Amino acid sequence: MAEEKSFKYVIVGGGVAAGYAAREFSKQGLKPGELAIISREQVPPYERPALSKGYINLESNNKRSIGFSFVLARFLTILFFSWYTDKATLPGFYVCAGSGGEKQFPQWYKENGIELILDTEIVKADLAAKTLVSGTGQVFKYQTLLAATGSSVTRLSDFGVQGADAKNIFYLRELDDADELVTAMDVKKNGKAVVVGGGYIGLELSSALKVNNLEVTMVYPEPWCMPRLFTAGIASFYEGYYANKGINIVKGTVAAGFSTNSNGEVAEVKLKDGRTLKADIVIVGVGARPIISLFKGQVEEEKGGLKTDAFFKTSVPDVYAIGDIATFPMKLYNEMRRVEHVDHARKSAEQAVKAIKAAEEGKSIPEYDYLPYFYSRAFDLSWQFYGDNVGETVMFGDNDPKSPKPKFGSYWIKEGKLIGAFLEGGTPEENKAIAKVARTQPSVESLNVLSKEGLSFATKI
Ligand code: FAD
Ligand code: NDP
Repeated sequence: MAEEKSFKYVIVGGGVAAGYAAREFSKQGLKPGELAIISREQVPPYERPALSKGYINLESNNKRSIGFSFVLARFLTILFFSWYTDKATLPGFYVCAGSGGEKQFPQWYKENGIELILDTEIVKADLAAKTLVSGTGQVFKYQTLLAATGSSVTRLSDFGVQGADAKNIFYLRELDDADELVTAMDVKKNGKAVVVGGGYIGLELSSALKVNNLEVTMVYPEPWCMPRLFTAGIASFYEGYYANKGINIVKGTVAAGFSTNSNGEVAEVKLKDGRTLKADIVIVGVGARPIISLFKGQVEEEKGGLKTDAFFKTSVPDVYAIGDIATFPMKLYNEMRRVEHVDHARKSAEQAVKAIKAAEEGKSIPEYDYLPYFYSRAFDLSWQFYGDNVGETVMFGDNDPKSPKPKFGSYWIKEGKLIGAFLEGGTPEENKAIAKVARTQPSVESLNVLSKEGLSFATKI
Protein backbone atom coordinates (compact mmCIF):
# COMPACT_ATOMS: atom_id res chain seq x y z
CA MET A 1 0.00 0.00 0.00
CA ALA A 2 1.19 3.54 -0.82
CA GLU A 3 2.67 5.54 2.01
CA GLU A 4 0.37 7.97 3.86
CA LYS A 5 0.60 11.56 2.63
CA SER A 6 0.09 14.59 4.80
CA PHE A 7 -0.73 18.20 3.86
CA LYS A 8 -1.63 21.40 5.66
CA TYR A 9 -4.53 21.99 3.24
CA VAL A 10 -6.36 19.46 1.09
CA ILE A 11 -9.02 20.27 -1.50
CA VAL A 12 -11.11 17.23 -2.36
CA GLY A 13 -12.56 17.64 -5.84
CA GLY A 14 -10.72 19.17 -8.78
CA GLY A 15 -13.28 21.36 -10.53
CA VAL A 16 -13.94 25.07 -10.79
CA ALA A 17 -13.97 25.84 -7.06
CA ALA A 18 -10.76 23.85 -6.51
CA GLY A 19 -8.93 25.71 -9.27
CA TYR A 20 -9.94 29.14 -8.01
CA ALA A 21 -9.13 28.15 -4.41
CA ALA A 22 -5.64 27.11 -5.54
CA ARG A 23 -5.14 30.48 -7.20
CA GLU A 24 -6.26 32.30 -4.04
CA PHE A 25 -3.94 30.19 -1.86
CA SER A 26 -1.03 31.07 -4.12
CA LYS A 27 -1.96 34.78 -4.00
CA GLN A 28 -2.18 34.71 -0.21
CA GLY A 29 1.13 32.90 0.16
CA LEU A 30 1.73 29.20 0.16
CA LYS A 31 4.81 27.13 1.06
CA PRO A 32 5.73 24.23 -1.27
CA GLY A 33 4.01 21.00 -0.26
CA GLU A 34 1.34 22.67 1.88
CA LEU A 35 -1.59 22.24 -0.53
CA ALA A 36 -2.89 19.20 -2.43
CA ILE A 37 -5.85 18.94 -4.80
CA ILE A 38 -7.28 15.44 -5.08
CA SER A 39 -9.51 14.90 -8.11
CA ARG A 40 -11.05 11.87 -9.73
CA GLU A 41 -10.79 13.60 -13.12
CA GLN A 42 -7.66 13.03 -15.20
CA VAL A 43 -7.04 16.68 -16.00
CA PRO A 44 -6.32 19.77 -13.88
CA PRO A 45 -9.25 22.04 -12.92
CA TYR A 46 -10.97 23.54 -15.98
CA GLU A 47 -13.86 25.87 -16.69
CA ARG A 48 -16.74 23.37 -16.75
CA PRO A 49 -19.12 25.70 -18.69
CA ALA A 50 -17.00 25.16 -21.82
CA LEU A 51 -18.20 21.54 -21.99
CA SER A 52 -21.70 22.45 -23.15
CA LYS A 53 -20.47 25.21 -25.45
CA GLY A 54 -17.25 25.36 -27.50
CA TYR A 55 -15.93 21.94 -26.48
CA ILE A 56 -18.71 20.04 -28.21
CA ASN A 57 -18.50 21.97 -31.46
CA LEU A 58 -17.25 19.47 -34.01
CA GLU A 59 -15.69 22.34 -35.88
CA SER A 60 -15.28 26.08 -35.46
CA ASN A 61 -18.74 27.62 -35.52
CA ASN A 62 -17.93 31.02 -36.85
CA LYS A 63 -20.72 31.89 -39.24
CA ARG A 64 -22.12 35.12 -37.91
CA SER A 65 -22.90 38.31 -39.77
CA ILE A 66 -20.32 41.05 -39.37
CA GLY A 67 -21.35 44.23 -37.54
CA PHE A 68 -19.94 46.49 -34.87
CA SER A 69 -21.34 44.51 -31.95
CA PHE A 70 -20.08 41.35 -33.61
CA VAL A 71 -16.57 42.80 -33.89
CA LEU A 72 -16.69 43.96 -30.26
CA ALA A 73 -18.06 40.61 -29.15
CA ARG A 74 -15.34 38.81 -31.12
CA PHE A 75 -12.70 41.01 -29.53
CA LEU A 76 -13.93 40.20 -26.04
CA THR A 77 -14.34 36.59 -27.02
CA ILE A 78 -10.81 36.32 -28.27
CA LEU A 79 -9.57 38.04 -25.13
CA PHE A 80 -11.21 35.79 -22.58
CA PHE A 81 -13.82 33.38 -23.86
CA SER A 82 -12.65 31.86 -27.10
CA TRP A 83 -13.66 28.48 -25.71
CA TYR A 84 -17.31 29.57 -25.59
CA THR A 85 -18.04 30.06 -29.24
CA ASP A 86 -15.24 28.51 -31.23
CA LYS A 87 -14.06 24.95 -30.99
CA ALA A 88 -12.57 24.79 -27.51
CA THR A 89 -9.86 22.34 -26.57
CA LEU A 90 -7.84 21.80 -23.44
CA PRO A 91 -5.59 23.34 -22.21
CA GLY A 92 -7.45 26.39 -23.63
CA PHE A 93 -10.04 26.41 -20.87
CA TYR A 94 -8.07 25.47 -17.78
CA VAL A 95 -9.06 27.72 -14.88
CA CYS A 96 -8.85 30.68 -14.55
CA ALA A 97 -9.44 31.41 -18.27
CA GLY A 98 -13.15 32.03 -17.70
CA SER A 99 -12.60 35.07 -15.52
CA GLY A 100 -9.83 36.46 -17.68
CA GLY A 101 -7.13 35.04 -15.42
CA GLU A 102 -3.97 33.06 -16.09
CA LYS A 103 -4.52 29.52 -17.35
CA GLN A 104 -3.28 27.14 -14.69
CA PHE A 105 -1.34 24.47 -16.59
CA PRO A 106 0.08 21.46 -14.70
CA GLN A 107 3.33 23.43 -14.62
CA TRP A 108 1.58 26.28 -12.72
CA TYR A 109 0.72 23.87 -9.88
CA LYS A 110 4.33 22.63 -9.82
CA GLU A 111 5.75 26.15 -9.76
CA ASN A 112 3.41 27.05 -6.92
CA GLY A 113 4.34 23.98 -4.89
CA ILE A 114 0.81 22.54 -5.16
CA GLU A 115 0.46 18.78 -5.46
CA LEU A 116 -2.10 17.86 -8.09
CA ILE A 117 -3.29 14.33 -7.38
CA LEU A 118 -5.40 13.36 -10.40
CA ASP A 119 -7.36 10.25 -11.36
CA THR A 120 -7.87 9.62 -7.66
CA GLU A 121 -11.31 9.23 -6.13
CA ILE A 122 -11.75 9.73 -2.42
CA VAL A 123 -14.11 7.03 -1.20
CA LYS A 124 -13.95 7.65 2.55
CA ALA A 125 -13.63 10.77 4.66
CA ASP A 126 -13.15 10.55 8.42
CA LEU A 127 -13.51 14.16 9.52
CA ALA A 128 -12.84 13.41 13.20
CA ALA A 129 -9.52 11.74 12.33
CA LYS A 130 -8.80 14.32 9.55
CA THR A 131 -8.18 11.51 7.10
CA LEU A 132 -9.24 10.75 3.52
CA VAL A 133 -8.92 7.40 1.79
CA SER A 134 -8.81 6.89 -1.98
CA GLY A 135 -10.32 4.05 -4.00
CA THR A 136 -6.91 2.39 -4.14
CA GLY A 137 -6.41 2.65 -0.37
CA GLN A 138 -4.07 5.64 -0.37
CA VAL A 139 -4.44 7.63 2.89
CA PHE A 140 -4.26 11.43 3.00
CA LYS A 141 -4.07 13.47 6.20
CA TYR A 142 -4.92 17.16 6.38
CA GLN A 143 -5.08 20.01 8.88
CA THR A 144 -7.72 21.96 6.91
CA LEU A 145 -10.07 20.42 4.36
CA LEU A 146 -11.92 22.20 1.55
CA ALA A 147 -14.74 20.03 0.21
CA ALA A 148 -15.33 20.92 -3.45
CA THR A 149 -16.92 17.79 -4.90
CA GLY A 150 -19.54 19.59 -7.02
CA SER A 151 -22.61 17.85 -8.40
CA SER A 152 -23.43 14.68 -10.24
CA VAL A 153 -26.16 14.34 -12.84
CA THR A 154 -29.57 12.94 -12.06
CA ARG A 155 -30.05 9.82 -14.21
CA LEU A 156 -33.24 8.51 -15.77
CA SER A 157 -32.31 5.11 -14.36
CA ASP A 158 -32.70 6.74 -10.88
CA PHE A 159 -36.44 6.94 -11.73
CA GLY A 160 -36.50 3.41 -13.15
CA VAL A 161 -37.11 4.55 -16.76
CA GLN A 162 -37.09 1.40 -18.90
CA GLY A 163 -34.13 1.04 -21.31
CA ALA A 164 -32.33 4.09 -19.85
CA ASP A 165 -28.97 2.28 -19.93
CA ALA A 166 -29.02 1.86 -23.76
CA LYS A 167 -25.93 2.91 -25.73
CA ASN A 168 -25.87 6.52 -27.02
CA ILE A 169 -27.89 7.94 -24.11
CA PHE A 170 -25.62 10.66 -22.73
CA TYR A 171 -25.32 12.93 -19.70
CA LEU A 172 -22.90 15.82 -19.47
CA ARG A 173 -20.87 16.67 -16.39
CA GLU A 174 -17.22 15.92 -16.96
CA LEU A 175 -14.70 15.94 -19.78
CA ASP A 176 -15.06 12.20 -20.40
CA ASP A 177 -18.83 12.62 -20.90
CA ALA A 178 -18.19 15.39 -23.44
CA ASP A 179 -15.61 13.26 -25.30
CA GLU A 180 -18.06 10.36 -25.58
CA LEU A 181 -20.75 12.71 -26.85
CA VAL A 182 -18.48 14.30 -29.46
CA THR A 183 -17.52 10.85 -30.76
CA ALA A 184 -21.17 9.82 -31.03
CA MET A 185 -22.11 13.09 -32.77
CA ASP A 186 -19.43 12.37 -35.34
CA VAL A 187 -20.51 8.75 -35.85
CA LYS A 188 -24.21 9.73 -36.08
CA LYS A 189 -23.56 12.75 -38.33
CA ASN A 190 -26.80 14.31 -39.65
CA GLY A 191 -28.75 11.90 -37.43
CA LYS A 192 -31.62 12.45 -35.04
CA ALA A 193 -31.06 13.69 -31.49
CA VAL A 194 -33.63 13.81 -28.70
CA VAL A 195 -32.85 16.09 -25.77
CA VAL A 196 -34.67 15.21 -22.55
CA GLY A 197 -35.05 18.18 -20.19
CA GLY A 198 -35.72 21.86 -20.81
CA GLY A 199 -33.22 23.35 -18.34
CA TYR A 200 -29.67 24.66 -18.84
CA ILE A 201 -28.29 21.45 -20.36
CA GLY A 202 -31.40 20.99 -22.52
CA LEU A 203 -31.21 24.46 -24.04
CA GLU A 204 -27.43 24.66 -24.48
CA LEU A 205 -27.08 21.13 -25.85
CA SER A 206 -30.01 21.44 -28.27
CA SER A 207 -28.32 24.46 -29.77
CA ALA A 208 -24.94 22.70 -29.98
CA LEU A 209 -26.45 19.62 -31.61
CA LYS A 210 -28.34 21.74 -34.14
CA VAL A 211 -25.22 23.74 -34.98
CA ASN A 212 -23.52 20.37 -35.58
CA ASN A 213 -26.27 19.48 -38.09
CA LEU A 214 -28.26 16.96 -36.10
CA GLU A 215 -32.05 16.97 -36.26
CA VAL A 216 -33.10 17.94 -32.75
CA THR A 217 -36.25 17.34 -30.69
CA MET A 218 -36.51 18.63 -27.12
CA VAL A 219 -38.87 16.96 -24.63
CA TYR A 220 -39.82 18.38 -21.26
CA PRO A 221 -42.76 18.07 -18.88
CA GLU A 222 -43.27 21.71 -17.99
CA PRO A 223 -45.46 24.23 -19.88
CA TRP A 224 -42.31 26.17 -20.85
CA CYS A 225 -38.52 25.81 -20.75
CA MET A 226 -36.39 26.79 -17.71
CA PRO A 227 -39.48 27.32 -15.56
CA ARG A 228 -37.44 27.82 -12.39
CA LEU A 229 -35.98 31.04 -13.81
CA PHE A 230 -37.84 32.02 -16.99
CA THR A 231 -41.26 33.61 -16.97
CA ALA A 232 -43.71 32.44 -19.65
CA GLY A 233 -42.83 35.61 -21.61
CA ILE A 234 -39.06 34.99 -21.53
CA ALA A 235 -39.50 31.33 -22.42
CA SER A 236 -41.77 32.07 -25.36
CA PHE A 237 -38.92 34.03 -27.01
CA TYR A 238 -36.44 31.14 -26.67
CA GLU A 239 -38.97 28.52 -27.73
CA GLY A 240 -39.85 30.63 -30.79
CA TYR A 241 -36.19 31.19 -31.60
CA TYR A 242 -35.36 27.47 -31.28
CA ALA A 243 -38.39 26.55 -33.41
CA ASN A 244 -37.20 28.99 -36.10
CA LYS A 245 -33.83 27.22 -36.03
CA GLY A 246 -35.67 23.99 -36.81
CA ILE A 247 -35.75 22.47 -33.32
CA ASN A 248 -38.89 20.49 -32.59
CA ILE A 249 -40.22 21.08 -29.07
CA VAL A 250 -42.48 18.55 -27.32
CA LYS A 251 -43.86 19.84 -24.02
CA GLY A 252 -46.01 18.40 -21.25
CA THR A 253 -44.66 14.87 -21.35
CA VAL A 254 -41.58 12.86 -20.32
CA ALA A 255 -39.43 10.06 -21.65
CA ALA A 256 -41.03 6.90 -20.26
CA GLY A 257 -38.76 4.34 -21.96
CA PHE A 258 -36.31 3.63 -24.77
CA SER A 259 -36.15 0.92 -27.41
CA THR A 260 -32.85 -0.20 -28.95
CA ASN A 261 -31.51 -1.62 -32.22
CA SER A 262 -29.67 -4.94 -32.48
CA ASN A 263 -26.41 -3.25 -31.31
CA GLY A 264 -28.02 -2.12 -28.08
CA GLU A 265 -28.03 1.49 -29.29
CA VAL A 266 -30.98 3.71 -28.57
CA ALA A 267 -33.42 3.77 -31.50
CA GLU A 268 -36.62 5.28 -30.12
CA VAL A 269 -37.78 7.37 -27.19
CA LYS A 270 -41.15 6.32 -25.89
CA LEU A 271 -43.04 9.24 -24.42
CA LYS A 272 -45.48 8.99 -21.54
CA ASP A 273 -48.27 10.40 -23.72
CA GLY A 274 -47.94 7.39 -26.05
CA ARG A 275 -45.96 9.04 -28.86
CA THR A 276 -42.54 7.76 -29.96
CA LEU A 277 -39.57 9.71 -31.34
CA LYS A 278 -36.80 8.21 -33.47
CA ALA A 279 -33.36 8.85 -31.98
CA ASP A 280 -29.73 8.10 -32.85
CA ILE A 281 -28.53 10.05 -29.82
CA VAL A 282 -30.31 11.02 -26.60
CA ILE A 283 -29.01 13.67 -24.24
CA VAL A 284 -30.48 13.91 -20.79
CA GLY A 285 -30.38 17.04 -18.64
CA VAL A 286 -32.87 16.57 -15.83
CA GLY A 287 -30.93 18.17 -13.02
CA ALA A 288 -27.96 17.62 -10.76
CA ARG A 289 -27.38 16.67 -7.12
CA PRO A 290 -24.58 17.82 -4.83
CA ILE A 291 -22.01 15.11 -4.07
CA ILE A 292 -22.00 14.99 -0.28
CA SER A 293 -22.20 11.27 0.48
CA LEU A 294 -18.56 11.27 1.72
CA PHE A 295 -19.54 13.56 4.58
CA LYS A 296 -22.96 12.07 5.48
CA GLY A 297 -23.63 11.92 9.19
CA GLN A 298 -20.49 13.91 10.01
CA VAL A 299 -21.48 17.47 9.00
CA GLU A 300 -24.66 19.48 9.37
CA GLU A 301 -26.64 19.62 6.14
CA GLU A 302 -29.27 22.02 4.85
CA LYS A 303 -31.25 22.24 1.60
CA GLY A 304 -29.37 19.29 0.13
CA GLY A 305 -25.89 20.71 0.74
CA LEU A 306 -23.34 21.08 3.52
CA LYS A 307 -24.40 23.94 5.78
CA THR A 308 -21.78 26.69 6.07
CA ASP A 309 -21.39 30.12 7.59
CA ALA A 310 -20.54 33.26 5.60
CA PHE A 311 -16.90 32.07 5.40
CA PHE A 312 -17.84 28.59 4.06
CA LYS A 313 -16.92 26.92 7.35
CA THR A 314 -19.04 23.84 8.02
CA SER A 315 -20.21 22.60 11.42
CA VAL A 316 -16.96 20.59 11.72
CA PRO A 317 -13.83 22.52 12.75
CA ASP A 318 -11.30 22.99 9.93
CA VAL A 319 -13.70 21.71 7.28
CA TYR A 320 -14.92 24.13 4.60
CA ALA A 321 -17.40 23.49 1.76
CA ILE A 322 -17.33 25.53 -1.47
CA GLY A 323 -19.06 25.62 -4.85
CA ASP A 324 -22.17 23.59 -5.67
CA ILE A 325 -22.20 21.64 -2.40
CA ALA A 326 -22.29 24.63 0.01
CA THR A 327 -25.56 25.87 1.52
CA PHE A 328 -24.55 29.31 2.75
CA PRO A 329 -26.21 32.43 4.16
CA MET A 330 -27.31 34.60 1.23
CA LYS A 331 -26.98 37.88 3.10
CA LEU A 332 -28.92 39.92 0.55
CA TYR A 333 -32.08 37.84 1.06
CA ASN A 334 -31.44 36.73 4.65
CA GLU A 335 -31.85 33.10 3.65
CA MET A 336 -29.76 29.93 3.39
CA ARG A 337 -29.22 29.03 -0.28
CA ARG A 338 -27.28 26.66 -2.49
CA VAL A 339 -26.14 27.85 -5.92
CA GLU A 340 -25.13 25.57 -8.82
CA HIS A 341 -23.38 28.16 -11.01
CA VAL A 342 -19.82 28.96 -11.90
CA ASP A 343 -19.62 32.54 -10.58
CA HIS A 344 -20.46 31.37 -7.08
CA ALA A 345 -18.04 28.42 -7.37
CA ARG A 346 -15.23 30.89 -8.07
CA LYS A 347 -16.21 33.46 -5.46
CA SER A 348 -16.99 30.98 -2.65
CA ALA A 349 -13.56 29.42 -3.19
CA GLU A 350 -11.85 32.79 -2.91
CA GLN A 351 -13.87 33.71 0.18
CA ALA A 352 -13.05 30.44 1.97
CA VAL A 353 -9.32 30.71 1.31
CA LYS A 354 -9.22 34.36 2.40
CA ALA A 355 -11.06 33.37 5.59
CA ILE A 356 -8.66 30.48 6.28
CA LYS A 357 -5.58 32.66 5.81
CA ALA A 358 -7.04 35.56 7.82
CA ALA A 359 -7.95 33.24 10.71
CA GLU A 360 -4.34 31.96 10.80
CA GLU A 361 -3.23 35.54 11.42
CA GLY A 362 -5.96 36.15 13.99
CA LYS A 363 -7.76 38.47 11.56
CA SER A 364 -11.24 38.44 10.11
CA ILE A 365 -12.68 39.30 6.70
CA PRO A 366 -16.11 40.64 5.66
CA GLU A 367 -18.98 38.15 5.37
CA TYR A 368 -19.79 36.71 1.92
CA ASP A 369 -22.33 39.02 0.35
CA TYR A 370 -23.29 37.31 -2.87
CA LEU A 371 -25.48 38.68 -5.64
CA PRO A 372 -26.78 35.69 -7.63
CA TYR A 373 -25.52 35.77 -11.21
CA PHE A 374 -26.52 33.21 -13.83
CA TYR A 375 -25.96 33.29 -17.57
CA SER A 376 -26.17 31.17 -20.66
CA ARG A 377 -25.13 31.23 -24.29
CA ALA A 378 -26.69 29.32 -27.16
CA PHE A 379 -26.73 29.95 -30.93
CA ASP A 380 -26.04 33.69 -31.25
CA LEU A 381 -27.92 34.41 -28.04
CA SER A 382 -26.54 35.41 -24.68
CA TRP A 383 -28.43 36.28 -21.51
CA GLN A 384 -27.53 37.32 -18.00
CA PHE A 385 -29.61 37.33 -14.82
CA TYR A 386 -28.83 39.00 -11.51
CA GLY A 387 -30.68 38.93 -8.21
CA ASP A 388 -33.79 37.04 -7.20
CA ASN A 389 -36.66 35.93 -9.42
CA VAL A 390 -39.62 36.30 -7.08
CA GLY A 391 -42.52 38.76 -7.06
CA GLU A 392 -44.29 40.52 -9.91
CA THR A 393 -42.63 40.77 -13.31
CA VAL A 394 -42.37 43.41 -15.99
CA MET A 395 -41.03 42.65 -19.49
CA PHE A 396 -39.47 45.16 -21.82
CA GLY A 397 -37.74 45.41 -25.19
CA ASP A 398 -37.87 43.52 -28.48
CA ASN A 399 -38.64 39.87 -27.77
CA ASP A 400 -39.73 38.89 -31.24
CA PRO A 401 -37.90 35.60 -31.98
CA LYS A 402 -37.71 36.64 -35.65
CA SER A 403 -36.08 39.97 -34.88
CA PRO A 404 -32.60 40.26 -36.46
CA LYS A 405 -31.19 41.62 -33.20
CA PRO A 406 -33.44 40.77 -30.28
CA LYS A 407 -32.84 42.66 -27.05
CA PHE A 408 -35.28 42.28 -24.23
CA GLY A 409 -35.47 41.72 -20.52
CA SER A 410 -37.54 41.31 -17.44
CA TYR A 411 -37.53 42.83 -13.96
CA TRP A 412 -38.80 41.17 -10.80
CA ILE A 413 -40.40 43.46 -8.22
CA LYS A 414 -41.11 42.46 -4.62
CA GLU A 415 -42.66 44.72 -1.98
CA GLY A 416 -42.17 47.78 -4.19
CA LYS A 417 -38.49 47.11 -4.86
CA LEU A 418 -36.76 45.86 -7.97
CA ILE A 419 -34.89 42.73 -6.90
CA GLY A 420 -34.09 40.79 -10.06
CA ALA A 421 -33.17 41.60 -13.66
CA PHE A 422 -32.78 39.49 -16.81
CA LEU A 423 -31.37 40.73 -20.10
CA GLU A 424 -30.96 39.01 -23.46
CA GLY A 425 -28.49 40.55 -25.90
CA GLY A 426 -27.10 43.19 -23.53
CA THR A 427 -23.81 44.99 -24.02
CA PRO A 428 -21.21 44.68 -21.22
CA GLU A 429 -22.30 48.12 -19.89
CA GLU A 430 -25.99 47.16 -19.94
CA ASN A 431 -25.25 43.91 -18.14
CA LYS A 432 -23.34 45.88 -15.52
CA ALA A 433 -26.36 48.17 -15.15
CA ILE A 434 -28.80 45.30 -14.50
CA ALA A 435 -26.37 43.85 -11.96
CA LYS A 436 -26.32 47.21 -10.22
CA VAL A 437 -30.11 47.55 -10.00
CA ALA A 438 -30.43 44.00 -8.68
CA ARG A 439 -27.84 44.82 -6.00
CA THR A 440 -29.16 48.28 -5.04
CA GLN A 441 -32.86 47.29 -5.19
CA PRO A 442 -34.35 50.68 -6.10
CA SER A 443 -38.01 51.44 -5.30
CA VAL A 444 -40.49 51.06 -8.12
CA GLU A 445 -43.36 53.55 -8.08
CA SER A 446 -45.37 52.08 -10.95
CA LEU A 447 -45.08 48.86 -12.94
CA ASN A 448 -46.51 50.65 -15.98
CA VAL A 449 -43.82 53.30 -15.90
CA LEU A 450 -41.14 50.64 -15.34
CA SER A 451 -42.41 48.72 -18.33
CA LYS A 452 -42.25 51.88 -20.50
CA GLU A 453 -38.78 52.85 -19.26
CA GLY A 454 -37.49 49.31 -19.78
CA LEU A 455 -33.72 48.98 -19.88
CA SER A 456 -33.21 52.74 -19.39
CA PHE A 457 -34.53 52.35 -15.82
CA ALA A 458 -31.42 50.28 -15.08
CA THR A 459 -28.92 52.20 -17.18
CA LYS A 460 -29.75 55.57 -15.58
CA ILE A 461 -29.14 54.31 -12.02
P1 FAD B 1 -17.27 20.92 -10.17
O1 FAD B 1 -16.74 21.94 -11.10
O2 FAD B 1 -18.30 19.98 -10.68
O3 FAD B 1 -16.03 20.08 -9.63
C1 FAD B 1 -16.17 19.00 -8.76
C2 FAD B 1 -14.98 18.09 -8.95
O4 FAD B 1 -14.92 17.17 -7.87
C3 FAD B 1 -15.04 17.26 -10.21
O5 FAD B 1 -13.78 17.30 -10.83
C4 FAD B 1 -15.33 15.84 -9.70
O6 FAD B 1 -14.83 14.84 -10.51
C5 FAD B 1 -14.60 15.89 -8.38
N1 FAD B 1 -15.03 14.91 -7.40
C6 FAD B 1 -16.29 14.65 -6.97
N2 FAD B 1 -16.28 13.68 -6.03
C7 FAD B 1 -14.98 13.35 -5.84
C8 FAD B 1 -14.33 12.41 -4.99
N3 FAD B 1 -15.01 11.63 -4.16
N4 FAD B 1 -12.97 12.30 -5.07
C9 FAD B 1 -12.26 13.08 -5.92
N5 FAD B 1 -12.85 14.00 -6.74
C10 FAD B 1 -14.18 14.12 -6.71
N6 FAD B 1 -22.61 27.56 -14.62
C11 FAD B 1 -22.74 28.85 -15.07
O7 FAD B 1 -22.91 29.76 -14.25
N7 FAD B 1 -22.69 29.13 -16.40
C12 FAD B 1 -22.54 28.17 -17.34
O8 FAD B 1 -22.52 28.47 -18.53
C13 FAD B 1 -22.42 26.82 -16.90
N8 FAD B 1 -22.27 25.83 -17.80
C14 FAD B 1 -22.18 24.53 -17.36
C15 FAD B 1 -22.05 23.52 -18.31
C16 FAD B 1 -22.00 22.20 -17.89
C17 FAD B 1 -21.87 21.11 -18.92
C18 FAD B 1 -22.07 21.87 -16.53
C19 FAD B 1 -22.02 20.44 -16.08
C20 FAD B 1 -22.19 22.88 -15.58
C21 FAD B 1 -22.24 24.22 -15.99
N9 FAD B 1 -22.36 25.27 -15.08
C22 FAD B 1 -22.46 26.56 -15.51
C23 FAD B 1 -22.34 25.00 -13.64
C24 FAD B 1 -20.92 25.14 -13.09
O9 FAD B 1 -20.01 24.53 -13.95
C25 FAD B 1 -20.84 24.53 -11.69
O10 FAD B 1 -21.71 25.25 -10.84
C26 FAD B 1 -19.42 24.57 -11.16
O11 FAD B 1 -18.56 23.78 -11.96
C27 FAD B 1 -19.37 24.08 -9.72
O12 FAD B 1 -18.04 24.04 -9.30
P2 FAD B 1 -17.56 22.97 -8.20
O13 FAD B 1 -16.10 23.14 -8.08
O14 FAD B 1 -18.44 23.09 -7.02
O15 FAD B 1 -17.88 21.57 -8.86
P1 NDP C 1 -31.72 21.99 -14.51
O1 NDP C 1 -32.14 21.81 -13.12
O2 NDP C 1 -31.35 23.31 -15.04
O3 NDP C 1 -32.88 21.51 -15.49
C1 NDP C 1 -33.42 20.25 -15.46
C2 NDP C 1 -34.83 20.38 -16.00
O4 NDP C 1 -35.33 19.10 -16.32
C3 NDP C 1 -35.77 20.99 -14.98
O5 NDP C 1 -36.61 21.92 -15.64
C4 NDP C 1 -36.51 19.78 -14.47
O6 NDP C 1 -37.79 20.11 -13.97
C5 NDP C 1 -36.62 18.96 -15.72
N1 NDP C 1 -36.92 17.56 -15.49
C6 NDP C 1 -36.89 16.89 -14.32
N2 NDP C 1 -37.20 15.58 -14.54
C7 NDP C 1 -37.44 15.45 -15.87
C8 NDP C 1 -37.78 14.36 -16.71
N3 NDP C 1 -37.95 13.13 -16.22
N4 NDP C 1 -37.91 14.59 -18.03
C9 NDP C 1 -37.71 15.83 -18.56
N5 NDP C 1 -37.39 16.91 -17.81
C10 NDP C 1 -37.25 16.71 -16.49
O7 NDP C 1 -30.57 20.91 -14.73
P2 NDP C 1 -29.66 20.59 -15.98
O8 NDP C 1 -29.64 19.10 -16.09
O9 NDP C 1 -30.05 21.38 -17.14
O10 NDP C 1 -28.22 21.11 -15.49
C11 NDP C 1 -27.44 20.32 -14.58
C12 NDP C 1 -26.50 21.21 -13.79
O11 NDP C 1 -25.61 21.88 -14.65
C13 NDP C 1 -27.19 22.27 -12.97
O12 NDP C 1 -26.48 22.41 -11.78
C14 NDP C 1 -27.02 23.53 -13.80
O13 NDP C 1 -26.97 24.69 -13.00
C15 NDP C 1 -25.67 23.27 -14.44
N6 NDP C 1 -25.57 23.95 -15.75
C16 NDP C 1 -25.59 25.30 -15.75
C17 NDP C 1 -25.48 25.99 -16.93
C18 NDP C 1 -25.52 27.48 -16.90
O14 NDP C 1 -25.55 28.05 -15.82
N7 NDP C 1 -25.51 28.15 -18.05
C19 NDP C 1 -25.30 25.29 -18.21
C20 NDP C 1 -25.33 23.84 -18.09
C21 NDP C 1 -25.44 23.22 -16.89
P3 NDP C 1 -38.00 20.44 -12.41
O15 NDP C 1 -37.45 21.79 -12.23
O16 NDP C 1 -39.48 20.39 -12.32
O17 NDP C 1 -37.30 19.37 -11.63
